[in-house]
Amino acid sequence: MARTFFVGGNFKMNGSKDSIKKIVEDLNAADLPSDVEVVISPPALYILWAKELLTNPTIKVAAQNSFPKSSGAYTGEISAPEIKDAGAEWVILGHSERRTIIKETDEFIAEKTAHALENGLGVILCIGELLEERDGGQTLVVCNRQLDAVIDKVKDWSNIVIAYEPVWAIGTGLAATPEDAQATHLEIRKYLAEKLGEEQASKIRILYGGSVNGKNAKSFSACPDIDGYLVGGASLKPEFIDIIKSRE
Ligand code: PEP
Repeated sequence: MARTFFVGGNFKMNGSKDSIKKIVEDLNAADLPSDVEVVISPPALYILWAKELLTNPTIKVAAQNSFPKSSGAYTGEISAPEIKDAGAEWVILGHSERRTIIKETDEFIAEKTAHALENGLGVILCIGELLEERDGGQTLVVCNRQLDAVIDKVKDWSNIVIAYEPVWAIGTGLAATPEDAQATHLEIRKYLAEKLGEEQASKIRILYGGSVNGKNAKSFSACPDIDGYLVGGASLKPEFIDIIKSRE
């Protein structure tokens, strides 16, 4: 099953009008491969700005979070219809920083995923284990539990991209080895096949995230179950373009 390679850039809570302008202008000017789907995720305040600046229509924009209601008395939250109205087509949900710092539960993330999909957004669903969970041999137990919450609420996964992001690899410079990441991706795909059927599972893109950079990206791209990357820190730097081109 050919799956379109996907590279997402998660800017997290970083950026200013000037720095985002520079990143977008560099992306506009780059000769990007036509067979890679690129999605950038600036802070919500800058979604409209990024959309205004983007001249390459193949680069899409993602929000970093959404609330599972369309509107109402939810001070400080942003909704999927608002994100769409601003021109973004994707939302990142379940990022480990939201799971661990904001204490979002699997169920809440699943609720947000269902609501975002119902409102026409694609969802980049992040899953992954903490270091102590990995050391305790719990990687797949954790990933499967995080997936189960969404499987309970969502049957059609055609607009979900999974980002497997081992938490110990995020922002640490300690990426998983391509062999380890591939092995986990394969197990995740097998689990999805069990729960959603072979056909759906074979189409779901599973990205690797965790200290991907311009130097190591290529080593993951040859792995059969790694369908792209979710990139944090390096997406703010010129090397993001090298990462997008890493399969060339
Ligand atoms: C992320 O925040 O999704 C991420 C993978 O970060 P980094 O690439 O900086 O490890």
